[in-house]
Amino acid sequence: MGRRKRGRPANPNPHGTNSGYCRGCRCEPCKEAARTYGIEYRNRLRNSPTPLRVHGTLDGYNTYGCRCDECYEAMQAYNFERSLSPRNIAARWALRASETPAERFERQLSEIL
Ligand SMILES: [Zn+2]
Ligand SMILES: [Zn+2]
Repeated sequence: MGRRKRGRPANPNPHGTNSGYCRGCRCEPCKEAARTYGIEYRNRLRNSPTPLRVHGTLDGYNTYGCRCDECYEAMQAYNFERSLSPRNIAARWALRASETPAERFERQLSEIL
């Protein structure tokens, strides 16, 4: 029995793609691709109906662009908390810990825009 050769050499990091960015590359082409991907992804979410489970969350307000009472209140509450302790790092971390994947996505996107 012959030894099996590896089919393909490992792909080099594909620069200029969102996956390159996701693998941790921060070169300009990868950042640009992540930006484009993020904006398209967000637009897709905005144009899709808001799932019931996100109403009353920041997610509904920010990610889905929902402006129903519940989502609006969630945003107000969030802003209020932030205004109480804008420099309170502990509070910031608590917010981060409680953020949903979509909120994290929004925050990461805003960091590269
Ligand atoms: Zn890259
Ligand atoms: Zn809503």
